[in-house]
Amino acid sequence: MTTLASLLDRLTAPAELAVSQADGSARCTACAHRCLVRAGRRGVCQVRFHDGQGLRAPWGYVSGLNADPVEKKPFYHFLPGSVALTFGMLGCDFHCGYCQNWLTSQTLRDPACGEAACFVRQVSPEQIVEAGVRSGADVIASSYNEPLITSEWAAAVFKLAVRAGMKCVFVSNGNATPEALEYLRPYLSGMKIDLKSMQDKNYRRLGGVLKNVLDTIRRVREMGLWLEVVTLVVPNFNDSTEELWDAARFLASVSPDIPWHVTAFHPDYKMTDAEATPARTLLRAAEIGREAGLRYVYAGNLLGRVDEYETTFCPKCRAALVERSGYTVRAVRVTPEGKCPQCGEKIAGVWG
Ligand code: SF4
Repeated sequence: MTTLASLLDRLTAPAELAVSQADGSARCTACAHRCLVRAGRRGVCQVRFHDGQGLRAPWGYVSGLNADPVEKKPFYHFLPGSVALTFGMLGCDFHCGYCQNWLTSQTLRDPACGEAACFVRQVSPEQIVEAGVRSGADVIASSYNEPLITSEWAAAVFKLAVRAGMKCVFVSNGNATPEALEYLRPYLSGMKIDLKSMQDKNYRRLGGVLKNVLDTIRRVREMGLWLEVVTLVVPNFNDSTEELWDAARFLASVSPDIPWHVTAFHPDYKMTDAEATPARTLLRAAEIGREAGLRYVYAGNLLGRVDEYETTFCPKCRAALVERSGYTVRAVRVTPEGKCPQCGEKIAGVWG
């Protein structure tokens, strides 16, 4: 009988983000865990493993392939209204108890994810890019699982996508290494990064380290990639006024032009008895973002209950520049040069 592990182990290729060690083990550099993987063992993510010859990385399949609005990633300042062909594989280097994609992210880590096998479809990078062309996509996104741990596959797809005129983005938890970002740099135009908490003890509960994520946020901006940040506001986890201020101040110190999306938590996975985020908490978080000096703050996952926080306003004259309803873009008034048509203010983003 084919197990999910043996199926996924077959769908692999030699890892490029790995450094062979003198004792035969390999140091993985795809994410900031930097696992030292010995022959016959797996990394923390479980989907990268050492077969005795070297480290293997996922290759040649998708667990999901969808033509989505780019707003769903979410990117609000990156070709608004365009189609983002989105692909994902399986596995993650974190284990967030509230993950909304847990069936695909926790594969091989949680036995309850066994049915993820039925999501696996073998494809080539060419077929993915062809699907993007057919769906009229201007953007191609690696998402659904943590894309850093499957960077080699993303790079193979992105290489062809760039040639076909698409812009490539990652939807990531930000647990990156400089090596992975440099490896992706020739193809990558933007990243969405989750800033899940400003407390290291919270990050440890999720399987990460706060500093690694903060470093990635700084580095992505320094590299000149477009960056948007999402904070899922979870009651009794990261919703204190103090912590929200810490997050907003940190982002503003990196750049006030980073769009900050504060989004509502819905009970899921191992946190089904937790309280959903009330609209008043989300509005408080958004107000803190603006007060901290962030020029573009959005509130998500509570359609129609977040006042004007779905709209992009000119930070200078307050003209409404991009009007949205959920993932639908109703109007884009930013000029092709990326300026406010009313006052000429430069609006940060990738406007086409
Ligand atoms: S991707 Fe991260 S978790 Fe997976 S093997 Fe590499 S360093 Fe470890």
